[in-house]
Amino acid sequence: MTKGDFTFGVPEEKAVAWYSPSRLLTAIGCMYQYKRRYLEGVMINPTGIMSWGSSVHKVIETNCNRRITRQPELTLSEMKQVFSEEWSSRRPGSEFASEEEFDELGEQGEGVFDHIEQYIRSLSPEKTECETKKIISDDENYGLRGFIDMVDVKGKIFDFKTTARRPSKNAQGLPTASVEHRFQLTTYAYCESDGGQHEVRCSNVYIIRKKKPEIIEVPVLITVEEMKRHEAHVKVWIEMLRHPDQAFPPNRRYKLCTPKYCPVWDDCHEKY
Ligand code: SF4
Repeated sequence: MTKGDFTFGVPEEKAVAWYSPSRLLTAIGCMYQYKRRYLEGVMINPTGIMSWGSSVHKVIETNCNRRITRQPELTLSEMKQVFSEEWSSRRPGSEFASEEEFDELGEQGEGVFDHIEQYIRSLSPEKTECETKKIISDDENYGLRGFIDMVDVKGKIFDFKTTARRPSKNAQGLPTASVEHRFQLTTYAYCESDGGQHEVRCSNVYIIRKKKPEIIEVPVLITVEEMKRHEAHVKVWIEMLRHPDQAFPPNRRYKLCTPKYCPVWDDCHEKY
């Protein structure tokens, strides 16, 4: 099990098992990977790209927290400095494809803020990096939990994504959130609305890592009906995952079944 999957003493000495969107999406994608990571505790070192994204997040979070506490916002050069410090601190625990990748990504990271500075300043944050959770089982043994990047003063949930590609477009030609990103937002909206008591406005904000970086905000409205369906969907999965006789087969058709994205690729291929 991973650290933080259980809370003891709530309620009445009971251990509550918490399921995050990434935990559930891993199970839905590949049961064997789920077992290795979440039940047997295989740790994953972040890739350079993941740490790059976390460093960009750090700048947004820092500026938002300054606004919340009514301190002066970061200047552009301070944004770059916060990025650079965070980036350097993440170097030892991250896996880079090559020696050059660290320098290239670092330079690219500082350059991003020339393009997204105004967007960061346009945000009206109420809280950042906030935990949200809701017990969903009838016996109070398990629940959903997530960490939201930012909630604004109107209660809108923001999830920032750093990516190399623009989001795909829907039939109307508008950028749209992927199924996985919508699943994540629906989990947050469900918890924030006390189990789907009211609809919740959300945004996936895509920060696109390319020569001329771009930022694309995709609004997502999560309705009460969608949250009810989500609750039914995740309950079926969680009940199945908790069954003592549950098998955990590999799924080679999972779209993230590649050596780059699967942290247990070697042992899975040795075994199966
Ligand atoms: S290699 Fe593929 S099938 Fe095996 S655990 Fe990873 S994702 Fe699953």
